[in-house]
Amino acid sequence: MRKPIIAGNWKMHKTIAEALELVNSLKGSTRPEVEGVVCVPFTALSEVKKAIAGSDLKLGAQNMHWEENGAFTGEISPLMLSEIGVDYVVLGHSERREYFAESDETVNKKMVSALSHGLTPIMCVGESLEEREAGAEKKKVEAQVKAGLKGLSSSDIEKIVIAYEPIWAIGTGKTATSEQANEIISFIRNVVRDIAGEVADSVRIQYGGSVKSSNVAEIMGQSDIDGALVGGASLDSEEFAKLINYGE
Ligand code: PEP
Repeated sequence: MRKPIIAGNWKMHKTIAEALELVNSLKGSTRPEVEGVVCVPFTALSEVKKAIAGSDLKLGAQNMHWEENGAFTGEISPLMLSEIGVDYVVLGHSERREYFAESDETVNKKMVSALSHGLTPIMCVGESLEEREAGAEKKKVEAQVKAGLKGLSSSDIEKIVIAYEPIWAIGTGKTATSEQANEIISFIRNVVRDIAGEVADSVRIQYGGSVKSSNVAEIMGQSDIDGALVGGASLDSEEFAKLINYGE
């Protein structure tokens, strides 16, 4: 059984004070059968970690470097994240690929490094509008999944989370239909099966792209969708509480 995982990607939003206000009002609204994760800015990680102690909420970062330390001005290492007690790290988000030259190769280095430091990666993949219109969405996500998982053992692959996020649906208000999302997610599971065998059935695969309380239940009702990676709608505690409590 794959435990559903609803993760909020706050992006570059929320000061420490704002982050604490959000998690303090959210932490009483979780439920044990759904994993709720807040992926907060680096500056808020330590304080949020303390604030959610004893609750069901888990903590995520939004990026990391693959090295433990070194001359990489402005970067944050996996050691620094694990010291804080971070559980998850988002890797290869389309905004990082587009604005910060993240490539399949750097995503792969980060995947290997995160797993070796006990961090669970949420690896993002997804096609652009042009690729979707050219019918190339499967080719794109297959290449991203294969490159991102290169060199990983089946037992490592079993631990990861993959987020399918069509770029044209992120922050645009346009959601892939739940059938479209399920089709690609089940295709991704088959790509993982080709690489790692039956552990593919344990890998949780989320959908991301304009998920909100009004569409989450339908999305989560699909057979292969195990969760959601949520941007805009995760910035409001009431809305995010509704997302975690979908279907209730
Ligand atoms: C995201 O940031 O990963 C995302 C899916 O954003 P939004 O929910 O705002 O589309």
